[in-house]
Amino acid sequence: MTKCPRLIIFGRQGAGKGTQCALLIERYGAVHISTGDILRAAVAEGTELGRQADAFMSAGNLVPDEVMIGLVKDRLLQDDVETHGFLLDGFPRTEAQARALIETLGAAGFDLAVNIEVPLATVRERIAGRNRADDNSEAVDRRLQDYEDKTMPAVRWFGSIGKLVEIDGVGAEDEVFTRLSNVVDSHL
Ligand code: AMP
Repeated sequence: MTKCPRLIIFGRQGAGKGTQCALLIERYGAVHISTGDILRAAVAEGTELGRQADAFMSAGNLVPDEVMIGLVKDRLLQDDVETHGFLLDGFPRTEAQARALIETLGAAGFDLAVNIEVPLATVRERIAGRNRADDNSEAVDRRLQDYEDKTMPAVRWFGSIGKLVEIDGVGAEDEVFTRLSNVVDSHL
């Protein structure tokens, strides 16, 4: 039987991360932990977490590390994660989050971090061609800039501990998925 994968997925906004995560879940059956989805649900439900996160999210800013780290630690303790493995999508977004995650899991507590690499100019074109409620240009610019300034150091940090694989994210969805699943299969 295939081992339950424990994966961390990185990619700029517009890199196709959402689609690739859906395909990964379909194939490997891991628990999809999308911090963006968790936060949006909390905002919709009006929970304490939602109230804390709302203003940061609508301005296109990151929610503070301590809020995010607590949230993800709690989620990783649940039984389904132990049974099925996980796909972390949208976390970590900063080097502090990355370090806290590895303190929690241990370096052997996950298989791989994958970066779906699509150049900035290409994601800008892709985003300009679609029309989503959270795509207003100021928020998009802020998120892309945050990715370079705050998330890329986290990506590089996984590289420095020898746990990062870069995937070329340019091309058709199925081609990208073939690259991605080949990499995942070879690490399980
Ligand atoms: P996403 O759907 O992953 O793009 O997340 C939507 C928004 O939720 C982001 O723009 C941030 O405001 C917030 N968010 C999600 N994950 C994180 C995280 N790991 N750290 C900080 N903020 C986050």
